[in-house]
Amino acid sequence: MLEPAKFSKPRYDWTVDEVLEILSAPFMDLVYAAATVHRMYFDPDEVQVSSLLSIKTGACPEDCKYCPQSAWYKTGLIKESLLAYDTIMEKARIAKSHGATRFCMGAAWRNPKERDMAFILQVIRGVKSLGLETCMTLGMLTKEQAAELAGAGLDYYNHNLDTSPEFYSQIITTRTYEDRLETLRYVRDAGIKICCGGILGMGETRRDRASFLRQVAMIKPHPESVPINLLVKVKGTPLEKAPDLDPFEFIRVVATARLLFPESYVRMSAGREEMSEEMQALCFLAGANSIFYGARLLTTHNSGENRDIGIFEKLGLNRNEKLTESDTDDLHFIFEKVHENAHRDNPEHRGCARLDQM
Ligand code: SF4
Repeated sequence: MLEPAKFSKPRYDWTVDEVLEILSAPFMDLVYAAATVHRMYFDPDEVQVSSLLSIKTGACPEDCKYCPQSAWYKTGLIKESLLAYDTIMEKARIAKSHGATRFCMGAAWRNPKERDMAFILQVIRGVKSLGLETCMTLGMLTKEQAAELAGAGLDYYNHNLDTSPEFYSQIITTRTYEDRLETLRYVRDAGIKICCGGILGMGETRRDRASFLRQVAMIKPHPESVPINLLVKVKGTPLEKAPDLDPFEFIRVVATARLLFPESYVRMSAGREEMSEEMQALCFLAGANSIFYGARLLTTHNSGENRDIGIFEKLGLNRNEKLTESDTDDLHFIFEKVHENAHRDNPEHRGCARLDQM
């Protein structure tokens, strides 16, 4: 039996075998322990809801095999250059007017170029001036860039490890696992909060999943946000025919993440559209307490907003929040406008990327 009390404080020295044992525990035992630990730090009836904006889409030089934004694959994605400052501010204002407290922005870059930094810093300051928290995902950073972002007031930086160190080279070859860890160290050292997770269903083994979770759990202090993504298979990417992941395995990983990261938000990110309401409810029970909403998460579909409202109502989640259908219609409009030339209405072009897998 898993004893919830053993998971009540964060630990940074898990072994892969220990994590594998948790992940492989009897399902009911695992979910019960995770639900119990969840209640130690969070209200189980509250789910953090975030929205995000792609400020630069496609043509990424990295070869992440799951990603339609990679320039290596023909997915039909239409690239978009960096959005104008006024456009980003307009989206941020609308998001704020609908109750958003954090505005997440991402660019499909290997890393920000020096010539981009002044603009990025201006955007951070501008969005902060609206009273919003800021989150960015821009690829790898140098130590100096992390310090600059922190100096401008960036609150969160998203940088995923994606998978285990052992499986990583089968998914990405254009940068190393150590490159990713290094960026995370720079971000942490700069005092920026971290959002770091991975993607399930890429052909990895359960041991890989345990090893991935253990890697994230070695970040000290733990990332404030741990996104768990389910691969969305995009036509044209090397993983378009990856075998389906058993839904119970996904729930197991969410529960294990809750036990390893008792103080962090565990986010169900990409792939929710493929999940039944019952599966999502089990994920919430197992400790997931953060989602993105928006009809399309940048280049992919997300679980429809109205569907989210329906699930929230059925489960009695976020009863004090003001999220309404008209709010989500407006947010839907934001995403549509931003991506109106980016393979809209093409159901084949789903499932990306750094942002969607966030
Ligand atoms: S996941 Fe990110 S880094 Fe990888 S190809 Fe896509 S946009 Fe580029």
